[in-house]
Amino acid sequence: MTTYTAPINDMMFLYEKLRNNKSYNELAKYKDITPDLVKDILEEAAKINQNLILPLAKAGDESPAVLENGVVRTPPGYKEAYKKYIEDGWTSLSCDTKYGGQGMPKTVSAFFDEMLSSASLSFKLYSELSIGAYNCINHHATEEVKNKYLPKMVEGKWSGTMCLTEPVCGTDLGLLKTKAVEQPDGSYKLTGQKIFITSGDHDLTENIIHLVIARSSDSPSGTKGISLFLVPKYIVRDDGTVGPRNGISTGSIESKMGIKGSATCVLNFDDAVGYMIGPKNKGLNSMFTMMNLERIVVGIQGLGISETAYQNSLIYSKERKQGKSNKNHSSNGSADFIIEHADIRRSLLNMKSIIEGERALCFWLSQQTEVSLNHEDKDVKQEASDYVSLMTPVVKAFFTDMGSEITSDAMQIFGGYGYTKDQGIEQLYRDNRITPIYEGTNSVQAIDLVFRKLVNRNGDIIDKYIKMIKNDLDSTNDKIKPFVLKINLYLEKLESFSSWIKDKIQSSKDDANAACNDYLKVLGLIAVAYSWIKVLEVSFEDYDNNKIFYEDKIQTANFFFERVLPRIDSHCATGTSGSKYIMDFKFN
Ligand SMILES: Cc1cc2nc3c(=O)[nH]c(=O)nc-3n(C[C@H](O)[C@H](O)[C@H](O)COP(=O)(O)OP(=O)(O)OC[C@H]3O[C@@H](n4cnc5c(N)ncnc54)[C@H](O)[C@@H]3O)c2cc1C
Repeated sequence: MTTYTAPINDMMFLYEKLRNNKSYNELAKYKDITPDLVKDILEEAAKINQNLILPLAKAGDESPAVLENGVVRTPPGYKEAYKKYIEDGWTSLSCDTKYGGQGMPKTVSAFFDEMLSSASLSFKLYSELSIGAYNCINHHATEEVKNKYLPKMVEGKWSGTMCLTEPVCGTDLGLLKTKAVEQPDGSYKLTGQKIFITSGDHDLTENIIHLVIARSSDSPSGTKGISLFLVPKYIVRDDGTVGPRNGISTGSIESKMGIKGSATCVLNFDDAVGYMIGPKNKGLNSMFTMMNLERIVVGIQGLGISETAYQNSLIYSKERKQGKSNKNHSSNGSADFIIEHADIRRSLLNMKSIIEGERALCFWLSQQTEVSLNHEDKDVKQEASDYVSLMTPVVKAFFTDMGSEITSDAMQIFGGYGYTKDQGIEQLYRDNRITPIYEGTNSVQAIDLVFRKLVNRNGDIIDKYIKMIKNDLDSTNDKIKPFVLKINLYLEKLESFSSWIKDKIQSSKDDANAACNDYLKVLGLIAVAYSWIKVLEVSFEDYDNNKIFYEDKIQTANFFFERVLPRIDSHCATGTSGSKYIMDFKFN
């Protein structure tokens, strides 16, 4: 089984030292969330994740969720752990106090999301979509609906799902077939099949609130005819109690490569009673509230699993002896720990420098998200919202692709013991592998970034982002100069790649499409490098107060700037090479 120790030191470093964000600090709402309070929360979070939830990862992999006589049963230990999880209030961490939540900012809840992903992604998924559904209902439903459903969801007694995918409709939601027929009382009856629904059914909660997209009988075809419906597993009576079973049944549970403890269900809706949320035919807009926040959380899943992979690789490299390092030339049979070998060290530093940079980026993005939701000045709010919009596909795709790289490299460090099941390392690779696929594949994120985010309202969002980084670089400490020189060099490359791609969006869509993945990687690498610059500023300024910690940061940043950031060169070269040899090729 894998081990895991929550990286509270690094999280608290970000929370305490990277707080010089003027707009975030102006949010009156979070004035009382002191570092001491956050430390207490993270210490409690570490306990439940390390002691109770981590063992569920293996349990869920060995005894997956099953469908028995129409009822979904979660793996052994899940029910007991979920009971404790909701008793301790973890579902409600970031929810509004109005509905019984704890009102914590995303700067705190994102750390919890990371820890939970590190411990067990399968277990996490049972509450993750509930929070997504909570956010969507909170944004788009009437007060009456909110008051009826949200308190129980916040408490964790009811859970939520997101029902988009159908057999013929995955990325292209315009193809959906589920029908909604309006009833005289204003409710709807939904009929159709949804597949791949995470936590579509299970035995952890008293009710499940499905958010379903469907087409009402008089709506047009395509994405312009999609509405959003709240469809409970059990009808909720006016007094809030759970009533009769709705017309929803579980057809089957998918048999999967990873996250086996998570019940991924085929759901059949047969005249199921539903209530429209938000305006008719604008269902996708409402659903995007859920999906956008979810995409960031999926990015965090990649980060969390990477952290577990790194920690276990580091421990193993200090225990496993093989071969002689360059320092040890003795002819006797003794071998060195593999951590002495340059290639193992390179691999560990690759993981560490990406993970810590991503965590800092995620912290910055959480600050921006809070500003975009809560700031009083509408221009400040809009600017933060633009950055969140730009970074959402980047964090989703970059973090999860790096998760694939890091979990694969971890397996490599473990050698044959990584490929066999004993150590739990191959499970990390399998569990992570869904993250580049669900919530919109990573290719679709890259397309979204290039075709929708770059050419936003004024078409200047990327220019604003680059300018903001440059302004920050101007004010930095002398010791950062070598790092600034490097990031500036790559910012120029990003600028010319951006101009190239904006031009291609007009002149050759195939060229632009073929470049999207490379472009997203370039922006991801820049965003992580920018986060490292922020970390370095503090590390140099505060150096004498915590030499060991800051020296570790500076050396890790050195590795990132020397060995990871230059990947940009290759992405720029391939990305701007056009699509001729791709589109002209005849596949036989
Ligand atoms: C374990 C698991 C859990 C899931 N949970 C949920 C859930 O809770 N709710 C839910 O609604 N769905 C869920 N899904 C579905 C998931 O979101 C979809 O599988 C995913 O969005 C991709 O859709 P698809 O599988 O139909 O692939 P397709 O859309 O068929 O795509 C196939 C390939 O074509 C590419 N592609 C598609 N369109 C384009 C394009 N325009 N340009 C370039 N490339 C393109 C894709 O990137 C992909 O590589 C889940 C899936 C799994 C496996």
